[in-house]
Amino acid sequence: MDLFSINEEIGIGLVLWHPKGAIVRKIIRDFWEEEHLKNGYQLVCTPHIARGGLWKISGHLNYYKQNMYLFEKDGEPYVVKPMNCPFHIQIYNSKPRSYRDLPIRYAEWGTVYRYERSGTLHGLLRVRGFTQDDAHIFCTAEQVDEEILKIIEFTEHILQKFGFHEYKMYLSTREPKEPEKYMGSEEDWKLAQKALAEALKRKEITYREMPGEAVFYGPKIDINIIGASGREWQCSTIQFDFNLPRRFNITYIGSDGKQHEVVMIHRALLGAIERFFAILIEHYRGNLPVWLAPTQVRILPIGGNYLPYAKKVHKKLQVHGIKSEVDSSSSTISYKIREAEVQNIPHMIVCGKREVKSKKISVRKHGVGSLDLLTIKELIRNIKNECNR
Ligand SMILES: [Zn+2]
Repeated sequence: MDLFSINEEIGIGLVLWHPKGAIVRKIIRDFWEEEHLKNGYQLVCTPHIARGGLWKISGHLNYYKQNMYLFEKDGEPYVVKPMNCPFHIQIYNSKPRSYRDLPIRYAEWGTVYRYERSGTLHGLLRVRGFTQDDAHIFCTAEQVDEEILKIIEFTEHILQKFGFHEYKMYLSTREPKEPEKYMGSEEDWKLAQKALAEALKRKEITYREMPGEAVFYGPKIDINIIGASGREWQCSTIQFDFNLPRRFNITYIGSDGKQHEVVMIHRALLGAIERFFAILIEHYRGNLPVWLAPTQVRILPIGGNYLPYAKKVHKKLQVHGIKSEVDSSSSTISYKIREAEVQNIPHMIVCGKREVKSKKISVRKHGVGSLDLLTIKELIRNIKNECNR
């Protein structure tokens, strides 16, 4: 499909997005950012590298060093970010916060780099550089229940737009017999695990509890999507964190005038975009819905004489935000149609004598095949309606 490639000279596990892949990526990102803004998130942008000291505070240099890309400049260590969290925390900490400011929700398409052994790398599914659709929520203990519920509802809303309607949910909790393995107090864990479980129950979602599966710094919910082939994919994660708020001293001033520790939640809905992209392609078997299709319309002139007319139609569609292209090859019209069908192009426009004369276009739909004589305006309206469905 000419969407991406991985090049040995650049490095394995590092993805080159070709024009068609990049446009799908932009469509996903635009949708994602707009929905986040509508749902109370604020967008942030953060750098790709940071001083070693930051990662000392976060604990990554102690616990995660073998997965990080490190380098030195002017005698000082730097790290290529394996995570976005410390950056979002520093934005939160850039000024004093009051309980009236909370919850604060920062979202970012943050590109991170993690060293993975070359044997474990696999196409888009496991890479070394990837973009997380990341967000961090800073709230009070009283707001936690509501926030978790909101995240679950928002996750469903986003995933459904991409055509995923079936999920499996898992609640990873701590091993009660080994409390020394975990950060945070008994109280913290109870509050967090209860908030996660309650939200799932309130939504009448069946889930499986996984005792002992939580990471040391907090419990989490995993939402796995079921693709068209029935395969289960780990996708969204909602993760409590009792570690970073203490390490970075993230607080707010309560209504009592005193400092309180915030509750911090990490969450990614699509996970790694590279991986999600591979899941999407598999789910739709390469036949992406019109709103996600890198080419929505291909214009097929019958012979070179009608190429100028085809280009005129193309320009008009482009101006209206329709992703179109012209097949300017010298192939026969039936070959051009076959090619467009094989490549899953949703709409084809045939341009010949009849079309030029009537100032209309013949539109053929992928998999349907009917030829309708439409005006360009009508086609644009049809495509826009399809995209909004
Ligand atoms: Zn995080």
